[in-house]
Amino acid sequence: MTYLAKPRLHHPSLERNRVGYTRRDYEGKVSTLCAGCGHDSISAAIIQAAWELDIEPHRVAKLSGIGCSSKTPDYFLGASHGFNTVHGRMPSVLTGANLANRELLYLGVSGDGDSASIGLGQFAHSMRRGVRMVYIVENNGVYGLTKGQFSATADRGSTSKKGVPNPDAPVDMVAMAMQLGATYVARSFSGDKAQMVPLIKGAIAHGGAAFIDIVSPCVTFNNHAGSTRSYDYVRQHNEAVSRIDFIDPAPERIAEPAPGEAIDLPQPDGSILRLRKLHADYDPTDRVGAMEHLLALQERGEIVSGLLYVDPMARDLHQALRTSTRPLNALNELDLCPGSTALAKLNASLR
Ligand code: SF4
Repeated sequence: MTYLAKPRLHHPSLERNRVGYTRRDYEGKVSTLCAGCGHDSISAAIIQAAWELDIEPHRVAKLSGIGCSSKTPDYFLGASHGFNTVHGRMPSVLTGANLANRELLYLGVSGDGDSASIGLGQFAHSMRRGVRMVYIVENNGVYGLTKGQFSATADRGSTSKKGVPNPDAPVDMVAMAMQLGATYVARSFSGDKAQMVPLIKGAIAHGGAAFIDIVSPCVTFNNHAGSTRSYDYVRQHNEAVSRIDFIDPAPERIAEPAPGEAIDLPQPDGSILRLRKLHADYDPTDRVGAMEHLLALQERGEIVSGLLYVDPMARDLHQALRTSTRPLNALNELDLCPGSTALAKLNASLR
C-alpha cells in the first residue's frame, strides 16, 4: 500500500553517528498499530538506542512471534535481519540463530500473550541457558490482536473493558527471569523514553541473557479505569529503583561520579553502566534482595521499574558450550575435520 511508504530521501544535514548512519537509517515501515499504542514508543526507543550505540543495522537480527508486539520489528531497523516465528517460538529460533552466528546482536521482541502463555516454556529455557540476547516483552495484559482477552500477566481483580474482573493470578515475567537465571533484568514503561533508552543500551552491551519487561498500555482494549496496565495506573504506581546512564567505551567520555552517588558496572564491550540509586538500600547485583523488593512492592500494588538485577560477571551459552568463536558458515573442512588419528581414537573410545 503506497500510502504507508516513507520517503526514501533524507535531509542532507541529518546528524550521522560514528558509523555514518542517520537516525532515519534505523527506522522501519510506517506502523499500522492503533494510534497511541505503547508499542510504537518502544520501537522509537530501540531506534534511538541502536543509533546512539553506532550499531550497524546489518549486524542485528530481530526475531518475534505472534501478536501486536511481534508486528513491531517491521517498524524499526528495516535494514536488519528479521524472522517472524510462529506463536511463542521466538526464543528457540533465536537460540539456534545465535549458536550458528554469535557475531550478530540478537533482539527478541515478544508480548505477554506470546511469551507468558504459549511460549512460556521457550522463554524459561532461553533464560536458564543464558542465551546472549536482548529479550523485550511488550506487556499490556491483554491479547490486543484478538480483541482484548486477559493475558497471563493480567493482575487478579483487574477488570476488562466491559468490567469483568480477572479471576486468575498473574505470571510475573520479571520474577521468573530472575529466578531462571537471566543476568540482566529490568522493567520499564513505554511512556518513559528517558528510562527505556539507557535500559535497552545496557541490555545490548550485556554479556548474557538480558530481559526487559516493558509495560506498554493497549489504548484500545486495556486503558480504562480498573485496568492495572493503563497509562494512568502505571504513572500513579510506578516505583523506579534506579536511573541508569549508559556510558560509551571511549575513555574520554567516562567522568568519575561523585563518591557515593552511583555504582559503575563495567560491561564486556568496555562500556560502563552507571546506576544512580533512587532507593538508598537497593543493590541491583543482589538477586535475592531484588526479588524480595519486587514482591514487597507488588503486595502494595506498585510496579517496580528500572534495572532490577544485573550480574556484571555474566556468562553466555557459547562460553558454557565452548563453541567456535567463528560463525558456522565461516568454518571450512579443515576446521571441521579432526583428522584420521583423532577419529580413530574417538571410535576406539566408543567400542
Ligand atoms: Fe496496540 Fe492494543 Fe491496538 Fe494492538 S490492539 S495495536 S496492543 S493498542
